[in-house]
Order: sequence, then structure tokens, then C-alpha cells
Amino acid sequence: MTIYQAVGTLALPPDSLTVPEFILDDPKSPERVCFIEEITGRKVYFSELRLRTAYLSAALNELGRIHPGDIVALISPNHIDYPICVWALHRLGAVVALMNPGMTGDEMGHLLKLAHPKFLIAHPDSVGLVKEGAKHAGLNGYDVVTLSTNTTSNLGYTTTEALIARGKRLPPFTQRKLSPGEGKTSVAFLCFSSGTTGLPKAVSISHYNVISNVLQLTAAHGVYDPQVEWNAKRYRPGDVCSGFLPLFHAYGLNIQMHFILHAQMSIVLSPKFNFEKMLDNISRYKITNLMIVPPQAVLLCKHPAVPQYDLSSVRVCMVGAAPVSAELTENLLRVLPDIQLGQGWGMTECTSCGTAFPLTQKVGKLGSAGMLIPGTSAKVVKSDGSLARDGEQGELYLQGPQVVLGYYNNPTATKDTFVDGWLRTGDEAYFDAEGNMFLVDRVKELIKVKAHQVAPAELEGHLLTHNAVADTAVIGVPDDFAGELPFAFIVLKPETAAEVEQNRKKPAELKKSIFQHVAKAKTPYKWLEGGIEFVDVIPKSASGKILRRFLRDRIRDERAAR
Ligand code: AMP
Repeated sequence: MTIYQAVGTLALPPDSLTVPEFILDDPKSPERVCFIEEITGRKVYFSELRLRTAYLSAALNELGRIHPGDIVALISPNHIDYPICVWALHRLGAVVALMNPGMTGDEMGHLLKLAHPKFLIAHPDSVGLVKEGAKHAGLNGYDVVTLSTNTTSNLGYTTTEALIARGKRLPPFTQRKLSPGEGKTSVAFLCFSSGTTGLPKAVSISHYNVISNVLQLTAAHGVYDPQVEWNAKRYRPGDVCSGFLPLFHAYGLNIQMHFILHAQMSIVLSPKFNFEKMLDNISRYKITNLMIVPPQAVLLCKHPAVPQYDLSSVRVCMVGAAPVSAELTENLLRVLPDIQLGQGWGMTECTSCGTAFPLTQKVGKLGSAGMLIPGTSAKVVKSDGSLARDGEQGELYLQGPQVVLGYYNNPTATKDTFVDGWLRTGDEAYFDAEGNMFLVDRVKELIKVKAHQVAPAELEGHLLTHNAVADTAVIGVPDDFAGELPFAFIVLKPETAAEVEQNRKKPAELKKSIFQHVAKAKTPYKWLEGGIEFVDVIPKSASGKILRRFLRDRIRDERAAR
């Protein structure tokens, strides 16, 4: 029986600690720079973060609208005050639901329906989206505050800056201390993931999960280990990390932000990813650590602007959130030959990550998604239900303090995914004899486009609302840049099929109309850029499950034959 255990030890955090206590009540170097705002170059010091968080929590408390356990939605691109909002809300005992501001009203409606917040903090550019989403969700009587560094807003809402100014004049707000064990059960974040099947769900991440995952990464990288020499350390006080991964996603929030702050590093915070800006930031702010997803690695390898920038400050690069081929790693090393480079594997359902490339490897083992981080165990379950040995493939299950509480308000999905204390990942993997983990495939329904989640069930549900579509199956097809692109197999309704047969409707026009149907309702990375194919029938198992692997193989064979 093979249960894989991480190498290294982990000191678990107290189970009564909240995220802001962990990050902000840390006495180390109060005058360090925590954030650098990409656009203005403005630096935010640790002491300022603490104060602004305290002022905002005092003012939010005075409003009297947020109570412990309440869900508050935060909808904003990366912003210098985003973490302040998060921690101020935590200080009030609120659960912070992080939502992608790039969504359409329809998509936002789904998330608002799941989280049902009564209070929302939204970037001014996202207020329209929030209103549209609230209409879709049937959400009424909610409060909005805009996330803005201006004290006034022409949108008619109070701004976070006005609240911070107000908080300065208020007596300090004293956070209720959690009692022992409460940190494990109180939810810090709702992040959204479709998991192994179905529509996006709200993932309940506790304070303990977040703090544990940060400490696991800290231990994996020997950040505070006196045995690890300064030169061998990957994440050092004073180092500078990139910050364009979205903070609403587990990778951006917990690795790029919470872990990096705990390592006493600075983050150059970018409102959104722009490749040339990223190059400019590297040379301007002397970025030492890059945290990227595979399409950004592809750009680093291929974009003509790369040679125009001085990238010599980069020492470490971590790639994660989607598959990274050995070839991509090799190509990236040609561009940045002296760096430490490797992968991490993660999932929202394990707070952010379960593996990292170990300190013993300057470059992660080619093609490997890293090794288990301290405190994590894994097993690989073969299709016959037995446990795999080294080199044998099967479904990856994970255990550790970072495995989240479950799906909010969804006991069925929770029961299916969190089985006997293990997280069922829906990823197919194997371990080699040294403990390197390799991802082979996905057994779950998820498609990853530029590292964003796309749930086939969501697109299939929407496609069925098109008047020509009788049945459909959406799969991901490989793409060199995006990783995968959504591709739809469509069974036409008999009357439409007859019109096509009689040349009264052109297939190309129908495809265009179906493509537009998705494009109108969904955010661009969900568009059917992989293609549309008309078929007579969607292959299904006896129980009615779409045979997705069969469809993926079919596309692969068709493409190979071309
Ligand atoms: P998310 O919850 O959005 O982080 O998505 C989690 C999923 O992304 C995992 O279950 C994997 O399918 C995929 N993923 C994350 N990291 C990697 C990696 N290093 N290699 C391959 N797939 C990955």
C-alpha cells in the first residue's frame, strides 16, 4: 500500500489564529515595503497596511451592517487596497467571497446566487457588473461600498478611502479573538471552482487552511530555516515578486500574496496582466521572483519584445495552475538560463497548493509538477480501486491541513469530493521513486484555458438554450498558447438538421450563431475558440454520462490524421 508522504517537517499554526492576525500582527521589520503599485510606483509599507486595515475595520464596524459569519463579496481587479479590504472584513469576522471582475452579468449572477452576500465591496469599474449580476441572482437590499483611493465617488456610494479616513477618527476596533479550534472551522474565503464536475461552486477555505498552506510553502522553501544558507534561499526578505496573477484566485491570493508577505518580500501589484508591462516591471522594479502560468511562460519564450528588456534580476520562477511541458521548461531556460525554475501543482480545494519544486532541485525535474509540500500526504488510486505504486497512474487524492472545509451549501458535492478525509482531485497522476509527481491527464470535467477554469457543464447548459441545439458536449482541445480551448460537439434539433440537409441553412452560419450565443453571455476565455462540430449523437455511458475521453481521443486522432 503506497501512501506518499512529504519530506520535511511542518509546525502547524495555532487553530485560533485569523489570517490578518497571522499576517499583520507579525513583529518582523515593520518598515518593509509590502506592495508597489505598478501604475504609480507608490510603495505601501507594512506599518501602513496595518493602520489602513485597522481604520477600515473600525469604520466598517461603525456602519453596523457586517456581523461575524456574514458573507461579503469583493469584486475588483488587483488593487493596492484589495488586501486591506480582505483583512478588515476578516477582523469583523466576515467571510470574504472573491469574485472575478472579468465576468459577465450572467456569470456574476451565478456566483452571487451561491454566496448571497448582503454587503459588497466593488471596484468602481465593476459596479455595473454587480448590479447586473444582482438582478440575475434576484439579490435585493444589499449594500455597496466602492474600492477606491478617492474619498468621493460619482457613483453615489461610500468609498473605502472615505471609510479609512473616517476610521482614523474612531476608537480602535478590537477584534474578537477566536477560541481554540475556531480557526479550523471559521471560513475566511469563498473562492469559486467547479471541482470535478458540474457548475462553479463556492469553496469554503478556513483561516487555518490559509495559514497552514503559507507555512507549508515556507517550510518547503526553507524560508526561515537557519540550515538553509542565504544564497540557497528562494524567497528572501527584501526580494521582489511579480503580482499580476488575480487575487480572486487561490494562486494569486495565497501564494503570490499571503506567502510572499509572510516571507517579508514586496509585491509589484498589477491591476491586470499585460506582457510588455510585465517585462517593464521586471527591469524597473528589479523583480527577483516570477509567479506565472503557462501561457505567460510561452510569451517569455516567443515574444519579440523580450530581448529589449533587462531581465537579469530574475532569480526564481514558479509556473503553476495548468500543465507545463518539459519542452516549455527547456525553452524558458534558454531565455532565463540561470534561474531556479519549477512547477507547483495546486487546486482551489487545497487552498492553493499541494506541491512545489524542492530546494534540492535548482530546476524542477522536467515535466514534473513538483513534490508534496511538508504536512501533505497523497495516494494514487488506480481504476480498479487499488493504490498505485511508483510509476503507476491513477487518480490523485490529497490529505493535509490545506484541504478545505468543503463546498458552501452543497453537501452532495462536498461528499463526492472530500472522501474519508481525502481530497479527490480529479487529476490523473503518478509519482516516481524520488517523490516527483507527474500529472498525466484529468479525469474530471474541468477545462483550463490560460489557467482559468472553464466548466463544460456551464457551457453545455448555456448551449442548450440556443434554439438549434438538441444536445451537446464540451471538451477541451489542446492549444500551444492557451493550454486548452473549449470545443463543442453539437447535435442539432431535427428541424434545423433538416434545413441543413436541404441547403436552407448553412453550417458555417449556424456555427457562427452558436459561437455568438456563447460569446454574448460568457467571458472571453469561455468562448468556443477550439471549434464546433455537428454530430448525430453525443456518446454517453449507460448511466447517461458523456464519454468525454472518447470525444477527446476522436479530436486528437482527427488532428493527427490531418
Ligand atoms: P484551480 O482550482 O483553478 O487552481 O484548478 C486546479 C486544477 O488546475 C488542478 O486540479 C489541475 O487540473 C490544474 N493544475 C494546477 N496546477 C497544475 C500543474 N502544475 N500541472 C498540471 N495541471 C495543473
